[in-house]
Formats: sequence, C-alpha cells, structure tokens
Amino acid sequence: MLKGKTALVTGSTSGIGLGIAKALAAQGANVVLNGFGDHEGPQREVEQAGAAYGITTAYHGADMSKPAEIEAMMAFAAEKFGRVDILVNNAGIQHVARVEDFPVEKWDAILAINLSSAFHATRLAIPAMREANWGRIINVASIHGLVASVEKSAYVAAKHGVIGLTKVTALENATTGVTCNAICPGWVLTPLVQKQIDARAQEGNISVEEAQKNLLREKEPSLQFTTPEELGALAVFFCSPAGNNVRGVAWNMDGGWTAQ
Ligand code: NAD
Repeated sequence: MLKGKTALVTGSTSGIGLGIAKALAAQGANVVLNGFGDHEGPQREVEQAGAAYGITTAYHGADMSKPAEIEAMMAFAAEKFGRVDILVNNAGIQHVARVEDFPVEKWDAILAINLSSAFHATRLAIPAMREANWGRIINVASIHGLVASVEKSAYVAAKHGVIGLTKVTALENATTGVTCNAICPGWVLTPLVQKQIDARAQEGNISVEEAQKNLLREKEPSLQFTTPEELGALAVFFCSPAGNNVRGVAWNMDGGWTAQ
C-alpha cells in the first residue's frame, strides 16, 4: 500500500517509533530512522519488516532538541529519497517531579524534544507534501495530551501542545491531500515507562512486577499495555486511503483510560 513512499520516524531506534517504522515498512514504505543509541539493529529490523517490498532505510542522528539538526535531517531525507511523504513526530522524553521542584533544564528539554521538534519537522515537511498533494503527518502525543497526571507538568504541557499543533496543521491543509493526526497511547511498556516502573518499585519497596500492576490498575481499566505493534497498525490506517478524511483527531489507544 505504501510502496514508493518514504516515511521519516523520529525517535525510531526504540519503543513506539520503532514499532511504527516497522509497520510502515511492512506496507512497503522506505524509512528514515532517527534517535539515539544503536541504530544498526533497529535499521535491520525495519529492513526485515519491509523485505517483501525490498525497501530501503537510512538513518540520521539529529538531536531533536536542536532546530539546525532537524533541518539537516529533513534535507538529508529529501536528498536521499526525493521527499518525505509520511512524517511521524515521535521522539520524546519524560521527567517526573512536582512543579516547584521541576528542574528548569528538564522543562526546556521536554518542550524542545516533545513539542517544538514536531513544529520544526512539520514546517519543513509540508511544502513538498503540498506539492505532491499527498502527505501524512502523524504526531505521537499521549493520553497526557488530553488529561493530566501529577508530577508531569512539562510532559502534559508539551503533549497538550502537540494536539493543538495537530489540529492547526490539519486545518491549514484541510483542502489538500495532506492530513495530520495525533495518536494518544496509554501505557506502553517501553524504556520510557520501564524507568517509571523501576522508580515506583524502589520508592514503594515492592517488586517490579507489583509496581507494573499498580501502574496499570491506577489508570488503565483494561489492565493491559498498548503495544508498539497496535500503534503501528493505527499509523498504517492513517496512511491508508480510508484515512483520507480523518483530519485533526487525537486518537486514543488507552485501554479505557480517558473513558473513566
Ligand atoms: P523510548 O524511550 O522507547 O523511545 C524514545 C525514542 O526517542 C528513542 O529512539 C530515543 O533515542 C529518541 N530520542 C529521545 N531524545 C531524543 C532527541 N533529543 N533527539 C532524537 N531522538 C531522541 O520511548 P517511547 O515510549 O517509545 O516513546 C515514544 C513516544 O511515545 C514519545 O513521544 C512518548 O512521549 C510517547 N508516548 C509513550 C507512552 C508510553 O507509555 N511509553 C505513552 C504515550 C506516549
């Protein structure tokens, strides 16, 4: 379905981004990966996922907190593949502390990586998408783009901002073939969440398994984690012909978190 298209997925060396990159590759899209840490393993995984289509991958290590590096990454993708057809703004970090204790540099980093990076990549991707009259911008927001939790001021502010950016981008392109939508996962068992589970286990002097169960019981009625594969399937839907008129939504995959 996506043969000949190119997807750029930020923060795709791990977790949700990698899951989405693999799902898009499995539909035939070439993929530009981005993110920290080992990238060769993830790149191989994405290539294997798209092996039936003989897809190509590339990697750019832009630090998403730095606008100049985002510009270099977008130029790299355009040079390598002609243009970015599918942009997935996924890179993100978390830090947990009460507002009065929140380290200022963490606030700045979360706003830069979780929100401003999506603005920069989007503004750079839109002109070529508009020219082709086809494009998909998918912002990985969070359930924290819709509701709040204590000790996550920067994250909740950034994710609410991502949903605002999603709506404006969708409206500005509403009469074109370029759509923009947000995905709002509940808990997904990735390194970002494992850190929070480990901290809870340590603070509560309980096992990691118990801390994991408590985390789900607190917020997620299904008592199940959403998986990167399920999120990948939702991203594929947004890219499908049936997703053509889905514009500016914030789509939950949260085990009932926000239905409460
Ligand atoms: P993760 O830690 O597994 O992956 C984060 C990715 O972002 C990694 O590839 C990392 O290298 C990359 N990254 C971090 N800082 C970066 C930077 N400055 N520049 C470039 N890349 C950077 O986390 P995840 O859980 O897969 O999170 C992915 C996205 O999903 C984030 O935006 C997160 O807020 C969101 N999300 C996660 C959950 C969850 O429960 N895990 C829930 C809702 C939303």
